Amino acid sequence: MRKLAAALALVFALAAPAFGKVKVVSSLQDFASLADAIGGNRVETFALAKGYQDPHFVDAKPSFILKLSNADLLIVAGLELEIGYLPPLIDQSRNDKIHPGSPGYLDASIGCDILNRPTTQVTRAMGDVHPYGNPHYWTDPGNGRVIARAISAKLTQLDPGGKDAYDKNLAAFEAKLTEKEKEWSAKMAPYAGARIVTFHDSWPNFAKHFKLDIRGHIEPKPGIPPTPSHTLEIINLITAEKIPLILVEPYFDRKTPDAIGAKTGATVLMFYPSVGGIPQIKDYFSLFDHDIDAFVNAMKGKK
Ligand SMILES: [Zn+2]
Repeated sequence: MRKLAAALALVFALAAPAFGKVKVVSSLQDFASLADAIGGNRVETFALAKGYQDPHFVDAKPSFILKLSNADLLIVAGLELEIGYLPPLIDQSRNDKIHPGSPGYLDASIGCDILNRPTTQVTRAMGDVHPYGNPHYWTDPGNGRVIARAISAKLTQLDPGGKDAYDKNLAAFEAKLTEKEKEWSAKMAPYAGARIVTFHDSWPNFAKHFKLDIRGHIEPKPGIPPTPSHTLEIINLITAEKIPLILVEPYFDRKTPDAIGAKTGATVLMFYPSVGGIPQIKDYFSLFDHDIDAFVNAMKGKK
């Protein structure tokens, strides 16, 4: 019996960190998915923003404070994506471990390819919610790899006993990502250079990776709703350049894009920037699987 207990104790010691699971809170489901892939059964993840919500504007629930007060690690997109809701929640959590600069705080943008960094001084007073560069950078799988490595390093730092598991899981994740990138690039290759319009400026990294040409946005500036004059400009642009596709994130009103589509013949396609946008987008891989298949289907017969 004692032998069995000892054996069981060993199994549990291998399966989970001595102090229980590493509690990871992330702003986005995408980061939670990556943390699950790397952390396996050593971590417990919770995402504040759901994939079907606008990641700039999240309703802060009281339950978030409890999650944050118990967290060992907080993963954020940074670049002010969470500025509208997260800083007061961190303060109210009274958890020193996850304050910016603390070991339990990970800004996932570090080391990633960040596009549209400002060359002049900008402020949010100008109405742009992307003041320090585009914060939707996880839509490039190359950045997903960088983020996965950062999460692995951070988990190893917080839970050194899990190093072997994190190394192994990261290697498996990267091997699968390499395979998937080949598959995705092959599917997108016939559409290299395709011109598109998007509702919000969510897709510059995706477009760079998959060689799409974003010609304009339905929002006059990131975070500013459509205006009649700008909508007319977009209609003229789509007509002049015969742009076949308008991508719309799931949390925006389809009224304006549908009207533009009806006027110009462009197809309006719901395009999901995050894991959890719909139930079948359950992890970082199925995010690209779903969007790329939807894109290819929408473009068939358009060329
Ligand atoms: Zn944005």
